[in-house]
Amino acid sequence: MDARRAVVTGGAGFLGSYLCERLVERGTEVICMDNFLTGSPDNVAHLMGGPAFRLVECDLTGFVHVPGDVDLVLHFASAASPVDYLRHPIETLKVGSLGTLHALGLAREKGARFVLASTSEVYGDPLEHPQKESYWGNVNPVGPRSVYDEAKRFAESLTTAYRNSHGTDTGIVRIFNTYGPRMRPHDGRAIPTFIRQALSGEPITVTGDGTQTRSICYVADTAEGILAMAGSDFEGPVNIGNPAELTMLELAGTVRDLTGSSSPIEFIDRPADDPAVRRPDTSLAASRLGWKAQVDAEEGLRRTIAWFADKLSQTPQAVAG
Ligand code: NAD
Repeated sequence: MDARRAVVTGGAGFLGSYLCERLVERGTEVICMDNFLTGSPDNVAHLMGGPAFRLVECDLTGFVHVPGDVDLVLHFASAASPVDYLRHPIETLKVGSLGTLHALGLAREKGARFVLASTSEVYGDPLEHPQKESYWGNVNPVGPRSVYDEAKRFAESLTTAYRNSHGTDTGIVRIFNTYGPRMRPHDGRAIPTFIRQALSGEPITVTGDGTQTRSICYVADTAEGILAMAGSDFEGPVNIGNPAELTMLELAGTVRDLTGSSSPIEFIDRPADDPAVRRPDTSLAASRLGWKAQVDAEEGLRRTIAWFADKLSQTPQAVAG
């Protein structure tokens, strides 16, 4: 059954904005809570003014109060791109720990289902491939990425403790690389970077030798998988991603072809602790949630490129700046 009233933390971010949108479309009243650290009211501007949507500026690491009933809490607040969490390391650890504590407290108080946005980054630089939910991961606890990876690992542990100690109805989704319209051109993730570079004729910068792999999932697919988890009583963790795997060099070449760009491909240094491979085993999502990704990389990239091209034509400085 669809929720009647949901709180989406981080709802003004990339992924959160799609969740708000889908929930409103399904008739759920949505309270979107965000401090705009990496998100923007622009992402949910199309929902504002409607009776079923409210945007509340709020920092999840502080006191959180929501009047009235709530039957679903989707906890998505957290910087997510490496550029963002390296710029905001303490904030990232605080929202993963204190923010998760407060979001769980809200779910407990209201008797709501709680879904934690965890990440494939909990697998670190994986020694098992593809990654199943049973894999414990290979994370450097003092490496530069640890502020994000360990925050999410702590958040998973806290969520599990609330389930076991307080009986809170919790679910954990481990989301793999997701892309689509509304990503920020300068958020530092590979897809917006490649598209921005290709559209503005700059060199497309591939890190290392480009043989490292990722599995990319189109945002509409990811949102459906998360909402399937929200509508279930499954505790997870469950991988949400598209198992089709491609190398960074293949991704750069595909973006270049689809944009019709003549940008050269340039190789730059690879960041510390960058995972060599990444591919979800999604059989659990298929069997427990009846969900699997539908949009292939070429189609998803076409849609994303069209959105970026449109943005570039309206505000060239937003993409090229
Ligand atoms: P995003 O940066 O676009 O969105 C995160 C949102 O959280 C932003 O709107 C930001 O302002 C808000 N936020 C950050 N700290 C906050 C705080 N203390 N209080 C209130 N709001 C706060 O990132 P995204 O890509 O939309 O990711 C959303 C969630 O999904 C994150 O938890 C991320 O870890 C998870 N996730 C995303 C991906 C992906 O590929 N996009 C993959 C794995 C996991």
